[in-house]
Amino acid sequence: MIQIRWQLGRYIRHGWRWFILIQLICLLSVLFAGSLALSERLDDRVEEVVAATDNYLNRGIDSLTTLGQELTPGVCDATTEFRLTEAAIHSDVFDHFAYLSDRGGYCRSATNPLYPVQVGQLISTHPGPLWLSFDDSTLTPYQLFVLEQTPGHYLIGMAKSAHLLERLISPRDREFIRQIQIQVDQRLFYARDSLTQVPWLSLQTNLSQGKVNAQMMALLLSGDHWRRWLTYSLPLSLTLGLILPVLMIRRRSHQGVLLDDLTTALRRGEIAPVFQPIVHGGNGRVKGFEMMARWTHPTLGKITPDTFIPMMERHGLLDNLLTSLADQARGKLPSTTYLSINLSGEQLTQGLRDPLSFLLELCHKLEIPANRLMVEITERHALDYDCPQLQETLALLRHAGFKLAFDDFGTGHNGIACLRTFSPDVIKIDKSYVHTVSGDAIQKPVLDAIIQLARKMEVEVIAEGVETDAQRRFLLERGVTSMQGYLFGRPAHWHDSCPLPQPATA
Ligand code: C2E
Ligand code: CA
Ligand code: CA
Repeated sequence: MIQIRWQLGRYIRHGWRWFILIQLICLLSVLFAGSLALSERLDDRVEEVVAATDNYLNRGIDSLTTLGQELTPGVCDATTEFRLTEAAIHSDVFDHFAYLSDRGGYCRSATNPLYPVQVGQLISTHPGPLWLSFDDSTLTPYQLFVLEQTPGHYLIGMAKSAHLLERLISPRDREFIRQIQIQVDQRLFYARDSLTQVPWLSLQTNLSQGKVNAQMMALLLSGDHWRRWLTYSLPLSLTLGLILPVLMIRRRSHQGVLLDDLTTALRRGEIAPVFQPIVHGGNGRVKGFEMMARWTHPTLGKITPDTFIPMMERHGLLDNLLTSLADQARGKLPSTTYLSINLSGEQLTQGLRDPLSFLLELCHKLEIPANRLMVEITERHALDYDCPQLQETLALLRHAGFKLAFDDFGTGHNGIACLRTFSPDVIKIDKSYVHTVSGDAIQKPVLDAIIQLARKMEVEVIAEGVETDAQRRFLLERGVTSMQGYLFGRPAHWHDSCPLPQPATA
């Protein structure tokens, strides 16, 4: 239950940024993909509109030409008007017809609202033999075709713009293509809502009846286009928004611990120092204490250093950890003991700050001189002891009075090879070798060899992980007096009310 609550809390604390970011990315991708699809769709539509216009023009002219052949030139009588009315009823292009002749006058189909003066104006302002126009002077806008049948005789066809719209744009597209304007030979031929803005799409094509220019404006945020896009993308982005943060958090976490958790823990002082005595195995005198970190998480409880130290090392937080531990340990150390701290190899070599001044600052915080601080160099990654810069750093530290120890000697990278170019003050024999005393006959000689090697090099030895009296006696027999392990004391918090074993008087 606690675990679930913690994971949920972690999701809310760390995941919301990812959630918002993913939603934004999804929204932008949807807008982008939607605009691409829309512009492709509009491109197709403009082409269709131009083709439909061409078709419409040809059919209009054919229809006028055929009707013209049935009429007697220059005659405008009742028969003519009847013929025009009849043709208007049957025509699938025009709603009205009219005939204008300089000899016979003007006649028109029934209900035709066109006056001859409008035709006259059209003819006078543009060269023939075909005049096309858009007439929106009445409530119902019209397309006007004027065809000069023979010189001085004009046949006129009128079509309601609404009919043209039906031919040009399908009912589905009509809602989203808001403005459209078609020009033929630079004369306005059709307009649905006059084009007030720069058109979204425009196409100019030479067609059989002249140069047709079609321009369109589509409404971006309306229509089922976007509705369709959002129907698919919204559930997808919500799902991604929920799943991806979980994956991100998992990727960034190490055994369930997040970097952010670590920095918060440091800030809140959840990581506290514990101290384990390093004693004289013969008389039990406490010579020093090793300071180690303990993290008590508010909901998860105790988290072991093996979990969080490698992660802190990766993120360069070990300096902050030591500083925080030193702050908490200030003034607690008995004056006759030294303090041993763990310093990873990378803390010595990362070069972000000067190791000497960092350690001096730690001593200042701890209120102890440099010669009471032992630095255990732990190596998770191999250190290049041949490197002159590292040698110089180690020499400087030793010159300042710090005691230098190789931690976990004999394991990982802390092996005999390290002694080739640098001789520490102390080597700490790893507990795995000490534990061989009680059984492992093959490994026991290795422990012997390490002890002899250290003696030859005149390096002090501390045996770690001493748990039994047999181990203590074995070590004493071989001259190893400094020991650390559960036999003498476990790592413990330094409570004023419950002090650790105080150094025995010699
Ligand atoms: P280490 O430096 O070798 O620390 C000794 C580890 O052995 C500690 O484990 C300690 O609790 C454990 N130990 C001590 N006596 C005995 C014993 O008699 N028997 C057994 N079985 N174990 C014993 P811990 O505290 O879990 O620390 C593990 C490692 O985490 C440490 O190994 C050290 O490398 C690292 N570490 C702990 N605290 C710090 C820190 O403050 N800074 C850095 N850089 N590393 C730390
Ligand atoms: Ca250590
Ligand atoms: Ca160790």
